[in-house]
Amino acid sequence: MKLVLIGAPGSGKGTLAQGLIKALNIPSISTGDLLRNSIANGTELGKTAKKYMDEGKLVPTELVLDLLKERLAEPDTKNGYILDGFPRSMEQAELLDSMVDIDLCLYLDVDKDVIVNRIAGRRTCKKCGAIYNTNTYSSPVCECGGELYLRDDDNEVTVAKRFDTFTNTTSPLVDFYRNKGILKTVKGQDRAEDTLNKALEIMK
Ligand code: AMP
Repeated sequence: MKLVLIGAPGSGKGTLAQGLIKALNIPSISTGDLLRNSIANGTELGKTAKKYMDEGKLVPTELVLDLLKERLAEPDTKNGYILDGFPRSMEQAELLDSMVDIDLCLYLDVDKDVIVNRIAGRRTCKKCGAIYNTNTYSSPVCECGGELYLRDDDNEVTVAKRFDTFTNTTSPLVDFYRNKGILKTVKGQDRAEDTLNKALEIMK
């Protein structure tokens, strides 16, 4: 199963992906995580990408594609994968279409006020990328032992820009996948377990 997750920043794509990894036994590939790893490793690509990410803009497709292709070549993807954060533009959707056959696109539909609330409390693990919220998890340490931190781009100004990028550039993909007949919409307002259960029900 090759699955694409689409949703605004803070809609819960990463959290849903974590649940789906266990339920479907396939890896999740987050282009945001791949980019953050490049930044942490101090690569030239990471340095260039950071400038775009800090401004809430999309990183140029050729940079993201290099990382993605490398990751897709790893053996754990042979039975499928979840793409969290790719594609994010029509250009990327068409490129992906020419590379692989996507089985399903899940669109996580969440109201903006819920998102703003969520992002303020979001904490991400430096080691494994797991996502927590300070409303429900008060420890500064992940279950894996990694340190939890507030992402550089999870501040109010950048979040507003990322939201605009989603509305202008990414949301047309909902129609793209609907026209292909492989779009399913999941309302993601509730608790993470409920969203996961709804997604699994839809996929049956
Ligand atoms: P995410 O972790 O998915 O919220 O992504 C964080 C940031 O990484 C985004 O705001 C973009 O700047 C960048 N990014 C992630 N995925 C992509 C992509 N597919 N194309 C371009 N930029 C991306």
